[in-house]
Formats: sequence, structure tokens, C-alpha cells
Amino acid sequence: MFTSIAGRAVVVTGATRGIGKGIARVFAGAGARVLIVGRNPGTAKATAAELCAAGAEVSHVLADVGRRDDCERIAATAQERLGGIDILCANAGIFPDARLADMTDEHIDQVLGTNLKGAILSVQACLPALARSGHGRVILTSSITGPITGYPGWAHYGASKAGQLGFMRTAAIELAASRITVNAVLPGNIITEGLAELGGDYEAKMTASVPLGRLGTVEDIGHAALFLATDEAGYITGQTIVVDGGQVLPESLAALEG
Ligand code: NAP
Repeated sequence: MFTSIAGRAVVVTGATRGIGKGIARVFAGAGARVLIVGRNPGTAKATAAELCAAGAEVSHVLADVGRRDDCERIAATAQERLGGIDILCANAGIFPDARLADMTDEHIDQVLGTNLKGAILSVQACLPALARSGHGRVILTSSITGPITGYPGWAHYGASKAGQLGFMRTAAIELAASRITVNAVLPGNIITEGLAELGGDYEAKMTASVPLGRLGTVEDIGHAALFLATDEAGYITGQTIVVDGGQVLPESLAALEG
């Protein structure tokens, strides 16, 4: 089962570390050829080398997904190196916190520009190649924060992640004629370098609120993305998969006490 990923050309944005790197590793493990995208030259090179050392065909391109010209360069690089794009995992994102009382235009533009505009620009740039593939797949990394839950400091972030789902639903309809599906994975709290920057106290509190008793791994998200990219998932479009260990389920803290 799920053998359709072997040989497919995959672009993963925000894959120099964290969830994107995990997605790239899972796809590479299934035999895909992967182009990873990020802005940090050192991390990008090291991540591509690490995945190649495990026997995968992985290369990197430096690009800021918030810039249209950079996104077009991502698509051109994929065309040149992989001969096209079958799957786009639009994963790049940032989550700096700012309370509403202190939130500046810069905070709002930075978060919406990367997470929402960046996702739209990535999809737009990859569209011609995805359409040519005949079985194009777009998988967005949204979040439980915004679409389902809220968290102080992340009003702009939540708006960007909920906005991705609004984009997804219309994109799924528009792109259906080109046999491209557009779906989203909604991670809960996943162990990444970005999450670690929020501090040990945050991680401990989050772990305590997850019914399955642990934070997620980047592979947990990679496997959900992989499923949405398979031929077997070809009739699913405009949908979401929550991967959160049950974190959104409890009605109250008392519900977690059993
Ligand atoms: P992370 O560890 O901070 O990694 C973020 C990745 O995105 C890095 O590879 C970074 O690479 C890249 N990136 C950031 N801005 C970019 C830009 N403008 N252009 C291109 N690449 C960019 O974060 P993460 O925890 O893996 O999160 C990844 C995604 O999952 C985000 O969309 C986030 O919102 C979502 N998510 C995460 C969690 C979680 O618990 N970790 C939960 C829900 C949703 P460079 O620094 O090299 O640019």
C-alpha cells in the first residue's frame, strides 16, 4: 500500500528543520525525489546532506516564500532538477508571539506574509507544474491554533492558519479541473526547533494537555502528509486532518483527569 510516492517530485517549503524536515524525510523514505526550501544556507545544506546520506535524492534551494520571485525560482529549480512537481508541501511558517495590545503592523505583516501569503504564492508558482503532473497534490501545514483553538499571543498566527483553510477550500474547487487536490494537516504541538524556542515550561504545559500523553513528532505530521499525497487519497480534496494526540478533545481540564 502507498507505493505511489516512489519517484514522485516533491517540493517541501520550510524544510531546513522542524516539521518540514520531517515531511521531507518521510517522503524521501518512500522513494520520492525531494527539493527542500528555506532561507538559512547552513541549515539547508546540512539538512539536504543528512537526508542524502540516508540514500535519498534530496537537494535544496534558498528562498523566502513571502516573495513571489523567490517562489517562482523554487518552481523553476524543481523543473530543472526534478523535471516537474507532483507534490507541494507548503509548510514554511513562523510563530512569534505578540499580545493584541502590543501588536505592530510589522508583527502582522511578518506572520501573515510568511504563513498565509507565502502559502498562496508557493501554490501559485507551482501550479503549472502540478497541473502537468496529472495527479498534483498540495498539502498545507496549518495548525489547530486558529482553525480550532486560540492561544494568547497568537491572534495574528491563528488568523494566518485559519486563513490557509479559507484559501484551501476555494483552491480545491478551482484546481479540481486540473486534477490537483488541496488538503491540510493541522498539527497540535510537535517537537521541533521552533517549539523548543518557546521554552521548557510551554512544552510541559502542552504535554499535560494532550490525552495521548506526549507531544507529536515531525514524522507524525509527515505520515499524514504522505497519505494525502498518495494515489489512494486521490478522491480527497479541500479537507483537513488533525494530528494532535487528541489535544482539542477535552471540554475542560477535568476531562483530562479521567
Ligand atoms: P521551525 O522549527 O521554526 O521551522 C520552520 C521552517 O520554516 C524552517 O525550515 C525555516 O527555515 C522555514 N521558514 C520560515 N520562514 C520562511 C520563509 N519566509 N521562507 C522559507 N522558509 C521559511 O517550525 P516548525 O515547528 O517546524 O513549524 C513548521 C510549520 O508547522 C509552520 O507552518 C508552523 O506554523 C506549523 N505548525 C507547527 C506546530 C508545532 O508544534 N511545531 C504546530 C502547528 C503548526 P529558514 O529559517 O531556513 O528559513
